[in-house]
Amino acid sequence: MSTLSSSDILQFLSGRRDSELFAQADAEKTRVFGRDIFLRGIVEFSNHCRNRCQYCGLRAPNTELTRYRISRDDILLATRSIADMGLGTVVLQSGDDFHFSAEEIGGIIRQIKAERDIAVTLSLGDRSREEFALWRDCGADRYLLKIETTALDLFRRCRPGARFDERLRRIESLQELGYEVGSGIITGLPGMTHTILAQDILQLSKMGLDMIAAGPFVPHPQTPFANEAPGDVDESNRVTALLRLLNPGTNIPATSALDALRPGSRIAALKMGCNVVMPSFTPQSVRAAYNIYPGKNMIPSPALQIVESVRSAISELGLVPSTSQGFSRRNA
Ligand code: SAM
Ligand code: SF4
Repeated sequence: MSTLSSSDILQFLSGRRDSELFAQADAEKTRVFGRDIFLRGIVEFSNHCRNRCQYCGLRAPNTELTRYRISRDDILLATRSIADMGLGTVVLQSGDDFHFSAEEIGGIIRQIKAERDIAVTLSLGDRSREEFALWRDCGADRYLLKIETTALDLFRRCRPGARFDERLRRIESLQELGYEVGSGIITGLPGMTHTILAQDILQLSKMGLDMIAAGPFVPHPQTPFANEAPGDVDESNRVTALLRLLNPGTNIPATSALDALRPGSRIAALKMGCNVVMPSFTPQSVRAAYNIYPGKNMIPSPALQIVESVRSAISELGLVPSTSQGFSRRNA
């Protein structure tokens, strides 16, 4: 792992050394993962959320959003098509929705594992250690829980009612339970500075994470941050490139927020240190309602077509869309 000081990071974040930074990040990713790009099929099974994150379109006070939950059968159907299309991981994501009991979610995980040889990643928000333990026993492999920023004031401003120390404790619990654990940040949140970003990058790199996601802030019109400036795609790319240099074997996705701000930039990020893409397998009837931010899930095509076009875009870059489960190489 390379070491970078806070002042090195600030220099790279200034954008004055972009070609050197992106070439190094791409080389580091290739050294560890070769030309493979891991595909994960994501099923966004509920857009209900009890929280009020100031940036997110799913926040509870957003009464303009049409809410949905898909059934257990539809989750299983989507998962089967992910496996049948040769993707090695299903990601089950939702708002912080406590409608499904821990046992119901556990039953879904068990059923997926009984039917298919596929890795299961969960991204269900702030749940208890007991729930995490149950789902791990049922066969869940990974959990994603982003800290969003390490700057306490900014965290409090963005996530009213949430506690940063609890988020960190949950990440530690997940690690103790044997999950592969992912976290990450939103770049360009209102009030975020390069100093904060440098601190975020250094802290994330000390946490022993198997996955790190950093995507730009996209303002949503039905949130308190509607009129804030969007994050910057180039800045987000610098952040993921720096994370790659500091975390060579960690899985780093090219986020869909990139495409929401600059179409094509998600695939382009695969040449700047990212090694994962997560096409949506949420049923077409509700996909657009998983409206975290404008531009999210706006491709109206069937999942098969989306995957085919992602695969050919990856191949056009000289990379290989992998069918493997794509575990972390952090300890490799
Ligand atoms: N509810 C769970 C949670 O918050 O961990 C999982 C779902 S949540 C929609 C997934 C991620 O979306 C969050 O971790 C956050 O980083 C991202 N997100 C939400 N609103 C966003 C926005 N306006 N711009 C960029 N990313 C956003
Ligand atoms: Fe809910 Fe997650 Fe959106 Fe926050 S980021 S409002 S917890 S869905």
